[in-house]
Amino acid sequence: MSAPVDSAAVACLRRDEYVSQVATYRHEFRTWLRELDWADEWRTAAFDNVEDELVFHSTILARLYEAGWNRYGWPEDAGGFGGTEVHRAAYFEELAAAMLPVPEQHWTLEVIGPATYRYAPHLAAEYLPNYLRGAEWWGQCFSEPESGSDLAGLRCRAADDGDGGFVLNGQKIWTSQGPTATRFMVLARTGTPESRHRGLSTFLVDADTPGVTVRPIALASGRRELAEVFFDDVRIPRERAIGDVGGGWAVVMYLMQYERGMYGYAVLTTALTELGRLRAEMVVHGASPANRERFAQIYVAVVAAQARAAKTVRALAANQMVGPESSIDKLLFAKAEKDINDLVLDVRRGWMLTGVGADGDKELDTARAKWWYTRAATIMGGSAEVQRSIIADHLLGLPKEKR
Ligand SMILES: Cc1cc2nc3c(=O)[nH]c(=O)nc-3n(C[C@H](O)[C@H](O)[C@H](O)COP(=O)(O)OP(=O)(O)OC[C@H]3O[C@@H](n4cnc5c(N)ncnc54)[C@H](O)[C@@H]3O)c2cc1C
Repeated sequence: MSAPVDSAAVACLRRDEYVSQVATYRHEFRTWLRELDWADEWRTAAFDNVEDELVFHSTILARLYEAGWNRYGWPEDAGGFGGTEVHRAAYFEELAAAMLPVPEQHWTLEVIGPATYRYAPHLAAEYLPNYLRGAEWWGQCFSEPESGSDLAGLRCRAADDGDGGFVLNGQKIWTSQGPTATRFMVLARTGTPESRHRGLSTFLVDADTPGVTVRPIALASGRRELAEVFFDDVRIPRERAIGDVGGGWAVVMYLMQYERGMYGYAVLTTALTELGRLRAEMVVHGASPANRERFAQIYVAVVAAQARAAKTVRALAANQMVGPESSIDKLLFAKAEKDINDLVLDVRRGWMLTGVGADGDKELDTARAKWWYTRAATIMGGSAEVQRSIIADHLLGLPKEKR
């Protein structure tokens, strides 16, 4: 009988090879997942609330971090092993191929992590290792009650405290993973009220700082996925600025490429997992010819969108600014998410609508929560209407819309 392989040691020993050769990293990660004796526990875990899900996924991240696999694609001075966004894409693809859910914390990390590293490497070095190992996660505090699409009009204010730091006052809303986040990336006004996008700055604020109040928002599913965050005379030291004071818009633009492109790529890989599950359901329970045709159309659309998002991932890996092009990814992946969940609803209509959920069936509760959540796919990260305007104005050069 052969001695058990210490996979953590193997992953660490072959770091240089995995960084220089994504195919080798992918192959060995796939083998590791195939042999994983806790894969079923991870694959089949179901929850009826978001808090338990995040705690469970934090334990998954701790194990992945220890074995090294989720550290590829992240810089060495931020808890990673080096490599690029292409490593992270391969990581998401292998999870999807093994029908394993992406640990929830990755969704906010993919949005917030790259911009933090780019504009505040000292904060990334201090905190991103904890994020990668599931010991903490953050919320993105950009949107306000009257500033979602019109982000440049936001009113949350960070005033100079006369001592090198800032005093933050205002309200944010719709902060994903906000109810349990350890820290927030906050976009605030440091310029005059009329300064629009030129007068904004970004800060990292700890959730337990005096003056921060977090109120969870329950979605239609009942799950407390989002939060309102209030700041009352919250003191922020100067070194918590992410990027230049007054340079917040550059941070936002950089971050959006990840929120729409890289995040989108990961969503599309999980979409393939969901389609795989749905196909099995359709084979076992049967499906109408119309639903089979819908399945085929959605499958083709997902694969096409993934191919398009792969271009974005490669550009990000090459340190190119993707800019408005990532709005195409956002439009495509949001539609795919909605279409898949609508098909799940139609194929499993009896179960989804009249099945007995709550404490009896966490799987059903999760399927319903997913359907509800995907109603917002075309709103979060910038609404579909706004993405279409960006594409029209910046990519197609169409005449400006009359307002
Ligand atoms: C599930 C979910 C998660 C989210 N997570 C976060 C998060 O983590 N952090 C964060 O900061 N925010 C988050 N948001 C907020 C999200 O970014 C905003 O909801 C979004 O940008 C739209 O802003 P709004 O809600 O203020 O709607 P509004 O801007 O008021 O828009 C209302 C409607 O008007 C349309 N509209 C507005 N302006 C235009 C225009 N110029 N042209 C055409 N149509 C227009 C919109 O398309 C929309 O249909 C999240 C939202 C959801 C639903």
